[in-house]
Amino acid sequence: MAELYIDGEWVAAKAGGRREIRCPADGTPVATVDEATAEDTVAAIAAARNAFDSRGWPQTASAERGDLLLRVADLIGARKDALARTESLDTGKRLVESEYDMDDIASCFRYFGKLAGQDAGRIVDTGNADTFSRIVHEPVGVCGLITPWNYPLLQVSWKVAPALAAGNTFVLKPSELTPSTAIMLMDVLTEAGLPAGVGNLVLGAGASAGAPLSTHPDVDLVSFTGGLVTGRTIAANAATTVKKVALELGGKNPNVVFADADSETAIDYALTAAFLHSGQVCSAGARLIVQESVHDDIVEEVVRRAENIRLGGPFDTDAETGTLISAAHREKVERYVRTAVDEGAVLRCGGRRPDGERYQNGFFYLPTVLDGVGQGSNAVVEEAFGPVLTVETFTDEDDAVRIANDTTYGLAGAVFTQDAGKAQRVAGRLRHGTVWINDFHPYLPQAEWGGFKQSGVGRELGPHGLAEYQEVKHIYQNLRPAPQRWFSG
Ligand code: NAD
Repeated sequence: MAELYIDGEWVAAKAGGRREIRCPADGTPVATVDEATAEDTVAAIAAARNAFDSRGWPQTASAERGDLLLRVADLIGARKDALARTESLDTGKRLVESEYDMDDIASCFRYFGKLAGQDAGRIVDTGNADTFSRIVHEPVGVCGLITPWNYPLLQVSWKVAPALAAGNTFVLKPSELTPSTAIMLMDVLTEAGLPAGVGNLVLGAGASAGAPLSTHPDVDLVSFTGGLVTGRTIAANAATTVKKVALELGGKNPNVVFADADSETAIDYALTAAFLHSGQVCSAGARLIVQESVHDDIVEEVVRRAENIRLGGPFDTDAETGTLISAAHREKVERYVRTAVDEGAVLRCGGRRPDGERYQNGFFYLPTVLDGVGQGSNAVVEEAFGPVLTVETFTDEDDAVRIANDTTYGLAGAVFTQDAGKAQRVAGRLRHGTVWINDFHPYLPQAEWGGFKQSGVGRELGPHGLAEYQEVKHIYQNLRPAPQRWFSG
């Protein structure tokens, strides 16, 4: 049974709440974990505050913090198998995908470990030899870190690594649906030498265990990844104490395919973009926007291949994608598809649960293609966050850009064309935080990640990822202090 990690110790939730975690692919019991209430989270915040204010963590040499993160990266590498298995049990995700995630997680800690020691600030030229002025970066303070269930430990790492590199302390609340690898991470951090109180973990539901992280005055920064509606609540709560806020929210990501694209490549990526991890990816290419003249050929082949995608549990070696995270989430996806069809979309494949004994205890849903969705319809506005691809058509370059940008989100997008000039022009005009050309989904720890418009506030990863967790301070020094005598009297 797993408890909460507060001030360097595993402690039981005060109100005695418990939650059972089952694998969404088949209902296998995975873990029973403590369920925190707001009272537990307030205790975790007090521990993080004390570690920041009184125990010297922000003053540790940045290279020392960097070394700690490099040790974390090594430990994650050494425990990759156990971490990946646990992640797959919590999420139902294919084991091979969890293994990729663990490599990415180790890279993330390694990246921020190296970045930590490189920040020397900068000197400002005052134009006066008797004064000295410099800009330094300092930690923000106590960080509330709130993460979703789709890439559980990866999302946690994208926040924990830069927060620690910059010298902050934190209280982490992972998704209540997938807490297990965050629990394992706390042991890794402790083994790597993280002092008591610097990293704290609370488990449980957002409205109870998570809420104090955006309301409590002793939290200086709240960094949240999750849905748009929750993000708005967190931003509004955080405003009452003017916290620093970083938000990584949803996406409704366009995948623009021109007639001159290599069609085999474009089709292949359209499938990966939409159906990887059953579409439960913030940057999923859920909107295929295809040039009119090639619509029929492209869509026919996408549908044919979508119908052949093999579903299965995390350890089924023949599976190509997996389950949805929960019964409630599958019902949400089903409602989304029903609404789209009611609004006139043409259901080309999927649109239902798969048949067969092996799927009966999981939350599986077939890869679904909805053709002819109307501009402004719910299907192109709302994030399904499931294995559902919508298809729209465009006439020319301007039309493609207009349709691709016609969303309140702005997380990611792609353009497929063999015309290099057109690729760059369109990529430059897409109002999305990441744009791939003739590719979909690759991300690099050294490149910033974040959304335009309502997909977010702030950036993760890259050098800017560290800056999110820093305050900028200007230190100006008079090197010949003496009375100024502005006033003679
Ligand atoms: P969610 O918003 O339901 O929950 C995310 C986290 O917020 C969970 O830990 C939850 O317990 C917590 N939470 C909920 N209400 C809260 C409150 N009032 N106060 C504090 N915490 C609260 O999102 P989800 O269903 O877990 O994740 C799916 C969403 O995440 C999708 O919209 C997806 O696009 C988005 N996402 C975005 C990115 C990105 O990089 N932009 C990455 C992954 C997922």
